[in-house]
Formats: sequence, structure tokens, C-alpha cells
Amino acid sequence: MNPLAAGRFRPASPCGRPVNWAATGRLGGGSVVPFDSLNLSTTVGDDQNTVLANQLSVAALVGASELHILDAKHGSQVGLASHAGIARGCDGVVTTVPGLGLLALAADCVPIVLADPGAGVIAAAHCGWRGLTAGIVEATVSAMRAQGAITIQAITGPAICVHCYPVQQDCIDQLRDGLTPEQFLSVSHKIGSQWHVDVRSGVHRQLAQQDVQFSSVDRCTFEDSSLFSYRRDGRTGRQGMMIVL
Ligand SMILES: [Zn+2]
Repeated sequence: MNPLAAGRFRPASPCGRPVNWAATGRLGGGSVVPFDSLNLSTTVGDDQNTVLANQLSVAALVGASELHILDAKHGSQVGLASHAGIARGCDGVVTTVPGLGLLALAADCVPIVLADPGAGVIAAAHCGWRGLTAGIVEATVSAMRAQGAITIQAITGPAICVHCYPVQQDCIDQLRDGLTPEQFLSVSHKIGSQWHVDVRSGVHRQLAQQDVQFSSVDRCTFEDSSLFSYRRDGRTGRQGMMIVL
């Protein structure tokens, strides 16, 4: 199986070693309709053994011996992982343990992987529009710095684009209340008479404000049939972004 995208974070100084990351799509797994086929979530109604097999095969993509998997609660809680398991109630998780892969799941929201290879600190996070106002990006970066991270790099994964993400007025009101005016302007766009939200742009802006260098796997989940999209399909699977020290 091939990843959707993969690469390495390289240390800024001679100490430290490169950190592997990978993003997956919906192709190459064992799940059947409507989770076909590389669904990585055990909480969407898919067969558990098939999902575990899918998770094992994607862990191998980054050379992880085991995985710690993010929950997705649209909050700002960040966990510290020391062994395989689920980061219950968390939208961010940090580790300093070599070989322990972190996996963020999403199907329109923005999955994020972050690393300071020199300090040996990595993280994974999940951010939708609620996560922008909850401050999950800042909370994840702060949790990394508490573990010794200094120079942090990040990559955002496949997510729904602004054109495909119309929202109701209530969402816009909450974003206006929860974000700075500059952040609100960067994420809210009126296309015709309809408000749309650009979550990826908001994540990027918040990463920049935390002095994190970033790039992105700039694919739209809604437009691309090789990706899971909750907005498009409703009952469906989750793709992921992984990272391992
Ligand atoms: Zn789109």
C-alpha cells in the first residue's frame, strides 16, 4: 500500500534525527462499503478487526511499532502518550517515545502532525472550526514546548476546502466571538450570499502565530473521491496522518 503523501521532518541542527510522517487516503485497505477501504476509525461502525488490520498496515508506512490514536472531541485537551492506546477526550497528543506512532483521524477536519526533531518531541492534532475557537493548535504547541520542543515544524493533511464548506450563520457567529478579528477575517469568506469557512487557513494562521513553520498536503476531501468526506458521504470512514520519532 502506498501513502497519499509522506516525508520527513529534518532537524535544524546536527543533533536529532529525521522524523517520518505519512498521510493516508481511502484506498488500499480491507474495509467494505461504506468504509471502503482504508478506514482507520473504530468508532464509525466498521468491523473492528478490519480496522485494526488497516491501522497496523499504515503504522508500517512510517515504521511505527505501535500507535497512539487521537479521539476527536473538537476541544482543546492535549494528552501525553507513553504507550499504544487511545487519547480519550483529546484533540491533540504529544510523545517523546521513539517507535510510538501518533495517528490523527479526520474526514473533512484538518489533521496536523508536528515535530521538533532536534528535541525529540512530536505531536498529532485534529482541528475543525470548533477547534479553531477552542485553541487546539496553541494548546498542542504549548504541550510540545513543555516537553522541550523549541523549533517546531508542522504539516496539515487533507481537509475540506473553503469552496466546499458552506456553513450556517450560527457557526460564523461563534467564530466571530471566539477568534481575533484578524483570525476571523482569514477563515470566513462570503461566496455569493453564503458564508464559507476555510479551516486550513485558520490552522495555518494559528501555527504561524506560534512560530511554527508549516506546509500542507493540499487536497480537498469533499472533491476527491479517493478521500473520506463526512460532508459528502455521511456514514463513512476516516483517513489519517501519522508521525513517529
Ligand atoms: Zn473543495
